[in-house]
Amino acid sequence: MELSKNLIRKKIVILGAGVIGLSTAERLIEKYNELNLSKFGPIDLTIISETFAKDTTSDGAGGLFRPDDRFIPGVPKEQVKKWATDSFKYFDQLLFSKEAGKAGVFQASGYQMFNDERIDPSYKDYVYQFRSLTKKELDYFPKKFKYGYFSTTIGIDTRTFMQYLTNKLILNGVEFLMKKIESQENFIREHPQFDIIFNCLGLGSINFCDDTKMIPIRGQMIRVKAPWIKHFYYTDDNCYIIPNINTICLGGTRQKGNYSVELDEKDGKGIMERCKELCPSLESASIEWEWAGLRPHREPIRVEKEVVTCSHTSRQKIIIHNYGHGGNGISLSRGTCMHAVDLLLNTSDYLKSKL
Ligand SMILES: Cc1cc2nc3c(=O)[nH]c(=O)nc-3n(C[C@H](O)[C@H](O)[C@H](O)COP(=O)(O)OP(=O)(O)OC[C@H]3O[C@@H](n4cnc5c(N)ncnc54)[C@H](O)[C@@H]3O)c2cc1C
Repeated sequence: MELSKNLIRKKIVILGAGVIGLSTAERLIEKYNELNLSKFGPIDLTIISETFAKDTTSDGAGGLFRPDDRFIPGVPKEQVKKWATDSFKYFDQLLFSKEAGKAGVFQASGYQMFNDERIDPSYKDYVYQFRSLTKKELDYFPKKFKYGYFSTTIGIDTRTFMQYLTNKLILNGVEFLMKKIESQENFIREHPQFDIIFNCLGLGSINFCDDTKMIPIRGQMIRVKAPWIKHFYYTDDNCYIIPNINTICLGGTRQKGNYSVELDEKDGKGIMERCKELCPSLESASIEWEWAGLRPHREPIRVEKEVVTCSHTSRQKIIIHNYGHGGNGISLSRGTCMHAVDLLLNTSDYLKSKL
């Protein structure tokens, strides 16, 4: 009962409907059922967001599982490992279940190639397969690289996955509300009914809680139809080709501090040129859509519990922050959401208890 007291007859709100908001809701429902709390009535869960589905950053992401702790700054290696392995386990279970097609989860194999020798990424021990490329394999490519590896990991067609989560949440009675939120203080004053608040606002946390550590890393992408391409290709010169279910993602750019979600013609041209150099058959691919999104970057990713007192009612509110996943939000979604929900349930020692 101690563990569950924060869930019984509490009104819970999740702010933000990207992959983090939706995955948090899924995890809360699971926990509620695991703890056998439905005898107290159904979970009271609302998601409030300014945008949903196609208008979120999550919707456009390439969706490849490759969270490398070297590119997740400020988070202890063991913590990244825990988030990543929890996430991998979740997606792996989906992949080998009847739900895989509905959830948009598939096995993805491919090449990453570099102009210099690299240390292996931290995820190499828990993806399905990982090995260095031989010189002969490197020589197959029209563009020359010095070093590379081949791996089999998980691909997540994010648009399909987000729809899958949304359908599941609707079936479980979650309420959805479209609304722009100004600040933490205003929100608490205007919505006194909520006891527990999950902040999954991504970049919206800049205004919500004055977080000056948050910064966008802009990425532009072109989606093409090229069903003959079955592998992913990544190089260290801003070039990636990632097959999803209906399209292939061509990228990319990484522009720190750029807030523009408008398409940039020069960026688009550069992406096409780099991808065609690596994979000339893209010449006959048809463009489906183009997109620019902002990776919500923070050093470190913030998964943290805060207890605040409403200045009007003097009632205490629990706020769990979960944002700042940068270019790894799909990969780390499940792990960070498990952590966030555990913080609510007062199992504050998430890392120690599960390692
Ligand atoms: C080009 C590109 C490629 C990527 N590829 C990958 C990849 O291959 N693998 C990977 O793991 N990750 C990838 N990412 C990163 C991934 O997309 C993000 O880390 C992830 O989507 C973050 O999820 P989120 O839910 O925190 O944010 P978001 O999806 O941005 O969701 C935030 C939510 O908060 C809401 N919100 C914000 N402000 C307010 C407000 N003031 N009021 C109300 N609601 C508000 C928004 O409407 C939205 O619903 C990529 C990103 C980009 C841009």
